[in-house]
Amino acid sequence: MVGAGGNAIRGSRVGAGPMGEAERGDTAPRRRVSYFCEHGHESAPSFAADAEIPDSWDCVRCGLPASQDREHPPTAPRVEPYKSHLAYVKERRSDEDGAALLEEALQALRQRRNL
Ligand SMILES: [Zn+2]
Repeated sequence: MVGAGGNAIRGSRVGAGPMGEAERGDTAPRRRVSYFCEHGHESAPSFAADAEIPDSWDCVRCGLPASQDREHPPTAPRVEPYKSHLAYVKERRSDEDGAALLEEALQALRQRRNL
């Protein structure tokens, strides 16, 4: 009996945590919007009633951009704009890191020559 009581107390503590807040959020009114990708897949994410509905959505099945227009789905770009921006930032950072490493190597080389 003592062990069972302990478990019950532990369980109630979990319920009173962040999980409880998530449950309250689910009760907010939501609306489902259908998006169609180039492959004819339908994605139907749901949004909060007061949320701004995006023009496009990533297909849940293949990851291609999908639009609400079933007849005219967006054509698949080589790289998604958001990802390409991230990739650009990462690339630039690695270039800067590479340049710094190269500069260090050159300085070390020069010092060795001076000695
Ligand atoms: Zn798809």
